[in-house]
Amino acid sequence: MNQIGTIYCVGRNYVRHAKELNNEVPDSPLLFTKPLHSLAEANGADIYLPRERGVVHYEAELVIQIGKPYKKGISVDEIVDQMAIGIDFTLRDVQDNLKKKGHPWLLAKGFPNSAVLSHFIAFPGVEECQKRSFSLLLNGKQVQKGNIQNLIFDLQTLIDYCASHVGLHEGDVIFTGTPQGVGAVSNNDHFSLLWGEQDLGECTIKLS
Ligand code: ZN
Repeated sequence: MNQIGTIYCVGRNYVRHAKELNNEVPDSPLLFTKPLHSLAEANGADIYLPRERGVVHYEAELVIQIGKPYKKGISVDEIVDQMAIGIDFTLRDVQDNLKKKGHPWLLAKGFPNSAVLSHFIAFPGVEECQKRSFSLLLNGKQVQKGNIQNLIFDLQTLIDYCASHVGLHEGDVIFTGTPQGVGAVSNNDHFSLLWGEQDLGECTIKLS
Protein backbone atom coordinates (compact mmCIF):
# COMPACT_ATOMS: atom_id res chain seq x y z
CA MET A 1 0.00 0.00 0.00
CA ASN A 2 1.25 3.50 -0.83
CA GLN A 3 1.23 5.86 2.07
CA ILE A 4 -2.27 7.25 2.48
CA GLY A 5 -2.91 10.98 2.74
CA THR A 6 -6.36 12.47 3.14
CA ILE A 7 -9.31 10.06 3.26
CA TYR A 8 -12.15 11.58 1.27
CA CYS A 9 -15.61 10.00 1.21
CA VAL A 10 -18.66 10.76 -0.86
CA GLY A 11 -22.19 10.43 0.51
CA ARG A 12 -25.31 9.60 -1.54
CA ASN A 13 -23.55 8.90 -4.80
CA TYR A 14 -25.86 6.10 -5.99
CA VAL A 15 -29.53 6.98 -6.52
CA ARG A 16 -30.90 3.73 -5.07
CA HIS A 17 -28.82 4.13 -1.90
CA ALA A 18 -29.91 7.76 -1.37
CA LYS A 19 -33.52 6.57 -1.65
CA GLU A 20 -33.17 3.59 0.69
CA LEU A 21 -32.25 6.06 3.47
CA ASN A 22 -34.92 8.55 2.36
CA ASN A 23 -32.33 11.14 1.39
CA GLU A 24 -32.56 13.58 -1.47
CA VAL A 25 -30.24 13.04 -4.40
CA PRO A 26 -27.63 15.82 -4.10
CA ASP A 27 -26.90 18.31 -6.89
CA SER A 28 -23.19 18.47 -6.06
CA PRO A 29 -20.91 15.86 -4.46
CA LEU A 30 -21.50 15.44 -0.72
CA LEU A 31 -17.95 15.27 0.59
CA PHE A 32 -16.61 14.39 4.00
CA THR A 33 -13.33 13.11 5.39
CA LYS A 34 -12.23 10.52 7.91
CA PRO A 35 -9.19 10.82 10.20
CA LEU A 36 -6.12 8.88 9.07
CA HIS A 37 -6.30 6.78 12.24
CA SER A 38 -9.74 5.50 11.25
CA LEU A 39 -8.00 3.20 8.72
CA ALA A 40 -7.93 -0.57 9.13
CA GLU A 41 -6.89 -3.25 6.68
CA ALA A 42 -9.20 -6.11 5.74
CA ASN A 43 -6.39 -8.64 5.98
CA GLY A 44 -8.34 -11.44 7.62
CA ALA A 45 -7.89 -10.19 11.17
CA ASP A 46 -10.60 -9.07 13.61
CA ILE A 47 -11.72 -5.45 13.41
CA TYR A 48 -13.16 -3.77 16.49
CA LEU A 49 -16.15 -1.43 16.19
CA PRO A 50 -18.13 0.39 18.90
CA ARG A 51 -20.93 -1.57 20.59
CA GLU A 52 -22.48 1.12 22.79
CA ARG A 53 -23.24 3.93 20.34
CA GLY A 54 -26.20 2.55 18.41
CA VAL A 55 -26.39 0.71 15.11
CA VAL A 56 -23.26 0.38 12.97
CA HIS A 57 -23.94 0.07 9.23
CA TYR A 58 -21.62 -1.31 6.57
CA GLU A 59 -21.23 0.61 3.29
CA ALA A 60 -19.10 -1.08 0.63
CA GLU A 61 -17.40 1.29 -1.79
CA LEU A 62 -14.90 1.38 -4.62
CA VAL A 63 -11.86 3.33 -3.41
CA ILE A 64 -9.35 5.05 -5.67
CA GLN A 65 -5.90 6.31 -4.77
CA ILE A 66 -4.24 9.35 -6.34
CA GLY A 67 -0.80 8.58 -7.77
CA LYS A 68 0.51 11.93 -8.92
CA PRO A 69 0.03 15.67 -8.47
CA TYR A 70 -3.26 17.10 -9.72
CA LYS A 71 -3.23 19.42 -12.71
CA LYS A 72 -6.30 20.94 -14.32
CA GLY A 73 -7.45 18.71 -17.18
CA ILE A 74 -5.73 15.53 -15.93
CA SER A 75 -7.81 12.42 -16.58
CA VAL A 76 -8.83 9.72 -14.11
CA ASP A 77 -6.70 7.16 -15.90
CA GLU A 78 -3.65 9.44 -15.63
CA ILE A 79 -3.97 10.43 -11.98
CA VAL A 80 -5.31 7.29 -10.28
CA ASP A 81 -2.74 4.56 -9.81
CA GLN A 82 -4.39 2.11 -7.41
CA MET A 83 -7.79 1.00 -6.26
CA ALA A 84 -9.24 -1.06 -3.44
CA ILE A 85 -12.62 -2.05 -2.08
CA GLY A 86 -13.47 -0.34 1.19
CA ILE A 87 -16.11 -0.35 3.88
CA ASP A 88 -17.23 3.03 5.19
CA PHE A 89 -18.54 1.93 8.61
CA THR A 90 -21.14 4.36 9.90
CA LEU A 91 -22.79 4.85 13.28
CA ARG A 92 -26.25 5.27 11.75
CA ASP A 93 -28.17 6.33 14.87
CA VAL A 94 -25.49 8.87 15.70
CA GLN A 95 -25.57 10.14 12.12
CA ASP A 96 -29.39 10.50 12.17
CA ASN A 97 -29.04 12.64 15.29
CA LEU A 98 -26.27 14.77 13.82
CA LYS A 99 -28.32 15.29 10.64
CA LYS A 100 -31.30 16.51 12.69
CA LYS A 101 -29.08 19.05 14.44
CA GLY A 102 -27.34 20.05 11.22
CA HIS A 103 -24.01 19.03 12.74
CA PRO A 104 -21.00 17.58 10.89
CA TRP A 105 -20.85 13.79 10.50
CA LEU A 106 -17.44 13.26 12.11
CA LEU A 107 -18.70 11.39 15.19
CA ALA A 108 -20.71 9.01 12.99
CA LYS A 109 -18.04 8.46 10.36
CA GLY A 110 -14.64 9.02 11.94
CA PHE A 111 -14.32 6.50 14.77
CA PRO A 112 -11.34 4.09 14.89
CA ASN A 113 -11.54 1.32 12.23
CA SER A 114 -14.39 3.08 10.40
CA ALA A 115 -12.37 3.18 7.15
CA VAL A 116 -11.62 -0.41 6.16
CA LEU A 117 -9.61 -1.11 3.02
CA SER A 118 -8.85 -4.30 1.14
CA HIS A 119 -5.40 -4.59 -0.35
CA PHE A 120 -4.78 -2.32 -3.31
CA ILE A 121 -4.51 -3.42 -6.93
CA ALA A 122 -3.26 -1.45 -9.92
CA PHE A 123 -6.05 0.77 -11.26
CA PRO A 124 -7.23 -0.88 -14.50
CA GLY A 125 -8.77 2.31 -15.96
CA VAL A 126 -12.30 3.66 -16.00
CA GLU A 127 -13.42 1.56 -18.94
CA GLU A 128 -12.32 -1.70 -17.31
CA CYS A 129 -13.90 -0.64 -14.04
CA GLN A 130 -17.24 -0.22 -15.76
CA LYS A 131 -17.07 -3.83 -16.91
CA ARG A 132 -16.68 -5.21 -13.39
CA SER A 133 -18.72 -4.84 -10.28
CA PHE A 134 -17.56 -4.78 -6.70
CA SER A 135 -19.50 -6.58 -4.03
CA LEU A 136 -19.68 -7.22 -0.33
CA LEU A 137 -20.40 -10.63 1.15
CA LEU A 138 -21.73 -10.84 4.68
CA ASN A 139 -21.20 -14.29 6.17
CA GLY A 140 -20.85 -15.66 2.64
CA LYS A 141 -23.98 -14.03 1.23
CA GLN A 142 -23.89 -11.05 -1.14
CA VAL A 143 -25.46 -7.97 0.45
CA GLN A 144 -24.18 -5.20 -1.81
CA LYS A 145 -23.11 -4.97 -5.42
CA GLY A 146 -22.05 -1.80 -7.19
CA ASN A 147 -20.67 -0.60 -10.49
CA ILE A 148 -19.22 2.85 -11.08
CA GLN A 149 -21.46 3.17 -14.13
CA ASN A 150 -24.22 3.96 -11.64
CA LEU A 151 -22.43 6.78 -9.84
CA ILE A 152 -24.31 10.07 -9.73
CA PHE A 153 -20.98 11.95 -9.78
CA ASP A 154 -18.41 10.00 -11.79
CA LEU A 155 -14.75 9.55 -10.85
CA GLN A 156 -13.62 12.51 -12.98
CA THR A 157 -16.14 14.82 -11.33
CA LEU A 158 -15.15 13.65 -7.85
CA ILE A 159 -11.44 14.16 -8.54
CA ASP A 160 -11.93 17.63 -10.01
CA TYR A 161 -14.32 18.59 -7.22
CA CYS A 162 -11.95 17.48 -4.42
CA ALA A 163 -9.01 19.16 -6.12
CA SER A 164 -10.69 22.49 -6.72
CA HIS A 165 -12.45 22.78 -3.34
CA VAL A 166 -10.12 21.18 -0.80
CA GLY A 167 -6.98 20.03 -2.62
CA LEU A 168 -5.91 16.63 -3.87
CA HIS A 169 -2.47 15.13 -3.43
CA GLU A 170 -0.53 12.01 -4.18
CA GLY A 171 -1.58 9.33 -1.70
CA ASP A 172 -5.07 10.69 -1.08
CA VAL A 173 -7.89 8.16 -1.34
CA ILE A 174 -11.52 8.67 -2.27
CA PHE A 175 -14.29 6.36 -1.05
CA THR A 176 -16.61 6.92 -4.00
CA GLY A 177 -19.98 6.13 -2.41
CA THR A 178 -22.03 3.08 -1.56
CA PRO A 179 -24.72 1.32 -3.62
CA GLN A 180 -27.99 0.15 -2.11
CA GLY A 181 -28.07 -2.70 0.41
CA VAL A 182 -26.42 -1.11 3.44
CA GLY A 183 -27.30 -2.76 6.73
CA ALA A 184 -26.49 -3.31 10.37
CA VAL A 185 -23.40 -5.13 11.64
CA SER A 186 -23.59 -7.83 14.31
CA ASN A 187 -20.84 -9.20 16.51
CA ASN A 188 -18.75 -11.87 14.70
CA ASP A 189 -20.01 -10.88 11.24
CA HIS A 190 -17.56 -11.84 8.53
CA PHE A 191 -17.09 -9.62 5.47
CA SER A 192 -15.47 -10.41 2.12
CA LEU A 193 -14.65 -7.57 -0.29
CA LEU A 194 -14.82 -8.67 -3.90
CA TRP A 195 -13.70 -7.09 -7.15
CA GLY A 196 -15.55 -9.13 -9.74
CA GLU A 197 -14.80 -12.68 -8.64
CA GLN A 198 -11.51 -11.65 -7.04
CA ASP A 199 -11.42 -11.62 -3.23
CA LEU A 200 -9.37 -8.56 -2.19
CA GLY A 201 -9.99 -8.60 1.55
CA GLU A 202 -11.67 -10.23 4.51
CA CYS A 203 -12.41 -9.25 8.08
CA THR A 204 -14.42 -10.35 11.09
CA ILE A 205 -16.14 -7.76 13.23
CA LYS A 206 -15.95 -7.63 16.99
CA LEU A 207 -18.25 -5.16 18.69
CA SER A 208 -16.73 -3.91 21.92
ZN1 ZN B 1 -20.27 5.91 2.41
